[in-house]
Amino acid sequence: MISDTHIHTSYSSDCETHMEDMIRTGIDRGLKIMCFTEHMDKDYPLPPDAKDGDPGFFVDTEAYHKGYLAMKEKYAGKIDLLFGIELGLQPHIVDWNKNYVNQHDFDYIIGSAHTIDHRDPYFPEFYEGRSEREAYEQYFEEALRDILLFDDFDSFGHLDYIVRYGPNKNKCYSYKAYSDHIDPILRTLIEKGIALEVNAGGYRNGLGVPNPDKDVILRYKELGGELITVGSDAHTTENLAKNLDRIEDLLIECGFKNHVIYIGRKPVFYPLG
Ligand SMILES: [Zn+2]
Ligand SMILES: [Zn+2]
Repeated sequence: MISDTHIHTSYSSDCETHMEDMIRTGIDRGLKIMCFTEHMDKDYPLPPDAKDGDPGFFVDTEAYHKGYLAMKEKYAGKIDLLFGIELGLQPHIVDWNKNYVNQHDFDYIIGSAHTIDHRDPYFPEFYEGRSEREAYEQYFEEALRDILLFDDFDSFGHLDYIVRYGPNKNKCYSYKAYSDHIDPILRTLIEKGIALEVNAGGYRNGLGVPNPDKDVILRYKELGGELITVGSDAHTTENLAKNLDRIEDLLIECGFKNHVIYIGRKPVFYPLG
């Protein structure tokens, strides 16, 4: 793949890699297009041990934009850089998100459900007092609710994010086992013209597959979905563009001929293979 459209840098609070280091690595790896998607999770529920003044996943968007523009100019002709955001979706911040999105000229917005009922399933405590199945179902229900309440974004990030962190990860998880919960999400995305992201994070979180995996991608296609975005979700140079070739092969296997890159919030089709 010559593009990676899900990249974090030190403008995200959980990442220490400087943007310029990411860009240099991208050029070395043959990337032609990189889209930065820093974390913006308004009202992210901080864990109890968070330090006072911890901003959570809140990006200084002005500083980020300024830094981006400087890099775009510096590396013009060497690589195309795009200005994106990974926007955390929660039911109670719909108005805030609407306003935020309108205030900035993003090329690309990933909508991601990182929390359920003010808690992040990333933390093991989340699974106390509920079965894994209950947790996963609750995640899908809240994700659907998020998308129905707010849809001003381009691609839905890592659809089964929770499976990276469940007690048994994807051992007991499959599209088939959760189709009643996954189908309404896929149908809603298609109806609203929102893309499905295939995110390489699953490979490095011990799933052996991307988020989501083949059966979900096939179902999306079967239901009429045509918009697929692809990203590494890298927070380090090591993970930049990693496993994207595997995703490309998987998408071709699933019958897709193109993937999509958003530029100025408009989908542009790029051939696979
Ligand atoms: Zn995410
Ligand atoms: Zn991310």
